[in-house]
Amino acid sequence: MNADWEKDLEERLSEIREASLLRSIRVLEGMSEPRVRVGDREVLQFASNDYLGLAAHPLLREAAARAARDHGAGAGASRLISGTLRVHADLEDRLAAFKGAPAALAFSNGYATAVGVLPAILDKQDIAIVDKRIHACLVDGVRLSGAVLRVFAHNDLDQLERRLKWADGQRRDASGRIQHRVLILTESVFSMDGDLAPLLNIVELKEKYGAWLMVDEAHATGLYGERLGGLIEEFDLRDRVEIQMGTLGKALGASGGYVTGSRTFIDYLVQRSRSLVFSTAPSPAACAAAQAGLELLGGEEGQERRFRLWAVVDQARRLLLESGWTPEAVRSPIIPLPVGGEKEAMDLAAFLWDRCLWVPAIRYPTVERGKARLRCSLTASHTLAMLQLLAAGLKEARQVAPKEACS
Ligand SMILES: *Cc1c(COP(=O)(O)O)cnc(C)c1O
Repeated sequence: MNADWEKDLEERLSEIREASLLRSIRVLEGMSEPRVRVGDREVLQFASNDYLGLAAHPLLREAAARAARDHGAGAGASRLISGTLRVHADLEDRLAAFKGAPAALAFSNGYATAVGVLPAILDKQDIAIVDKRIHACLVDGVRLSGAVLRVFAHNDLDQLERRLKWADGQRRDASGRIQHRVLILTESVFSMDGDLAPLLNIVELKEKYGAWLMVDEAHATGLYGERLGGLIEEFDLRDRVEIQMGTLGKALGASGGYVTGSRTFIDYLVQRSRSLVFSTAPSPAACAAAQAGLELLGGEEGQERRFRLWAVVDQARRLLLESGWTPEAVRSPIIPLPVGGEKEAMDLAAFLWDRCLWVPAIRYPTVERGKARLRCSLTASHTLAMLQLLAAGLKEARQVAPKEACS
């Protein structure tokens, strides 16, 4: 190997370290549960997106094991060659029904969904108007498409409308014919802030300007809507949103990604979505686990778990307020505790870790520089006693941390 190879990488790593942005991978023994072992220590984690506690659910694990036994460990090929098995078709039927959409397409994960869908529907001359805080996979998808990327401030409807007006002006040629496609992109529940997009207003704006809308429901699916389909269902907007996407790896407890929309849209994606065409189909075990998750959501247990999750959220918010922190006003299982500096956030997370509390520090590039935070995420499996331990640790952390670090 060339001598400068390692040296170059080491220099880059030390830059990251000096900016307090170094990340490391923690190996967790056992399963995604609130109480986990990491190395020789047992910690309480407030870090996963397994909001309903389904990842460790016996029904999902059994479904995955059965699918591996009956359909094989791998799919053997990409979806368009010979990799589409009965489990994929069944999962897609169920997803479409769950989302109340005509059709669905399953991908290996949510990331692959975004980078597969966006370049398929956007060309270089098209315009994507995106919320400032959308997930990296959507930004990457737009970049891959080569479309013009315009950002509006987080949840800022006035700015969104200004961008739409601008795009509308760009769109017409001399004879007034529309030239470019315009797509608005937002999440419904934002992954690092836990707040909700004003979906109804966004839908009204996109209708007014003749744009299309794609909503990433990664953190809303399984939590909102009477049938737990997400925020679009909750706001009764299913027939007014062109594209919905999401992941099977969060509240659904499995792994995989999906997109839903019209039959024509899905037929088109099958032709043009590169992360679908050039990638091995999702494993039977993952599909079956996701299907079991969907089935569970549709029954009494899904409602019970949702009920429990919201009770946990309310208890946690009360306890956090009592411990001197001020969580944002939104009611969400994602509770960001703003800190600011990257180093301060790391120090606070380390302080909690020493007390066997795992609350991740979220830093650039996941959020903007100087907007570091602790991100507590709650699940239906957390108990009141666990929340009390969290609140006690956070109260102590506040007392030792420099004042400006905790706002
Ligand atoms: C997690 C996440 C994804 C990616 O989903 P994966 O299945 O984990 O790849 C996409 N969008 C948002 C908003 C997410 O939070």
